[in-house]
Amino acid sequence: MPPPPPLAELHLHLEGSIEPETLCQIDPTVTPEEVRERYQFTDFAGFLEAYKWVVRKLNQPADYALAARALRERLAAQGVTHFELNLSVGVMVFRQLETRAILDALRAELPGVPLIFDAVRQFTPEAAVEVAELAVEYGAAFGIGGDEAAQPMAAFRDAIRRANGLFIPHAGETTDARNVWEAVEYGAQRIGHGIRAIEDPALCRYLRDQQIPLEISITSNVATGSVPNVEAHPVRQLFDLGVPIVLNTDDPAIFETTLQQEYELAQRVFSFSDQELAVLRQNAFEYFRTV
Ligand SMILES: [Zn+2]
Repeated sequence: MPPPPPLAELHLHLEGSIEPETLCQIDPTVTPEEVRERYQFTDFAGFLEAYKWVVRKLNQPADYALAARALRERLAAQGVTHFELNLSVGVMVFRQLETRAILDALRAELPGVPLIFDAVRQFTPEAAVEVAELAVEYGAAFGIGGDEAAQPMAAFRDAIRRANGLFIPHAGETTDARNVWEAVEYGAQRIGHGIRAIEDPALCRYLRDQQIPLEISITSNVATGSVPNVEAHPVRQLFDLGVPIVLNTDDPAIFETTLQQEYELAQRVFSFSDQELAVLRQNAFEYFRTV
């Protein structure tokens, strides 16, 4: 058997990638069973609670570095040769952690890995400006995550303007196509999730013509209830409409998935052929950010 082809991942959160064993190393007072229990939920609000719980375990630069090292080693073992990494910098700032020391530690642990600094939709626009300024300082892209319904993209226009044109937000995951339109109007180079684009044919044509990819995470969307069940996921229709698609895990530890499993899911549930899977794999390398 030839080795499996290399993979690249573009939408991956450090905080959501911490396996129970790694979290127990960071905080020896918790058990793997407790972590697995905390990673169970039935809707998006429950997911945010799980995410917040794990984030609160990360306090020191060494905690983040340990999580990054474990992730890097696991991805290498899984054949993921290239990855970009989302960091909830908005949360680090909000929690008044030593943000620069953490970012320096992460950069040392992950040389050459493009970073995306995420602001939080539920926090103030001013807080997002601070995240955007850090993104410029560290050569990272600026992103926005969290509860999409909290505020419109327009609330973050100052932060987006400061972010040096590198803008990769979450949009159209739990709300509507309008949110994706707003993201592209503000210059998004890629869209985290963006699955609601399927509700708007003109938007799908725009994404296709402008070659703006959607970072699709099937298991994540099912687990958070963003789609009612796996069969209802629009990945196949979006692909058939010519919208550029890349497959991702989003938060692999919380959603108990791997990138390889996402490709297998695309094949098994959505009948992607070997040639189509090769296109998806190639897309991830094509849209991988090299700046
Ligand atoms: Zn995400």
